[in-house]
Amino acid sequence: MNFYCFAINKGATMKIVFIKLSVIVLLLSILSISGYTGEKEKNKVKNNNSDIKFKIDADGKIHLSEEEWKQILSPDVYRIVRKGDTEYPFTGKYNDHKEDGRYLCIACGNELFSSETKYESGSGWPSFFKPADTGLIAEEIDNSYGMRRIKVKCNRCGAILGHVFPDGPRPTGLRYCVNSASLKFEPDTSKVDKDKKDTQN
Ligand SMILES: [Zn+2]
Repeated sequence: MNFYCFAINKGATMKIVFIKLSVIVLLLSILSISGYTGEKEKNKVKNNNSDIKFKIDADGKIHLSEEEWKQILSPDVYRIVRKGDTEYPFTGKYNDHKEDGRYLCIACGNELFSSETKYESGSGWPSFFKPADTGLIAEEIDNSYGMRRIKVKCNRCGAILGHVFPDGPRPTGLRYCVNSASLKFEPDTSKVDKDKKDTQN
């Protein structure tokens, strides 16, 4: 009987040791996983339209398959930013938009243009004379529709924005003619707050 009890106790002790070891292994796994994702999160950005985070590769770009973009973007936006369709003139929501703020890439959230460089071109599409910074926009020769134009794209995710023409105002002489559907506007809240303050004073 004693031996039986001892055997049971020994078994129970072994069981407790095993459970303790399992808990330690589990805790270590959780720590290493969170450390791992923490590291990975640094290379990810949100696209401002959803909770989707993109992985930025070593070349500073986002590489997703067309299937993946289809899952992320609405059909209308996908048609324009991935397939190069153009929205009808005077129909886009930012054509007449005059608020102060930043225009981000609809697909990846990259800041592309500032309201300070937006101007009324009369073309029917939002027009800017300069990107927000150098290296944000990639250019590509576009020979479609029997014309030779320069297509502009978000340099980070490849979203097609529109075209750039050499008939813009000074100081650049350029006109970045962009589809509203390729952009997402983010108001400059500091400016809005300042204006409110000024009105109150
Ligand atoms: Zn982008």
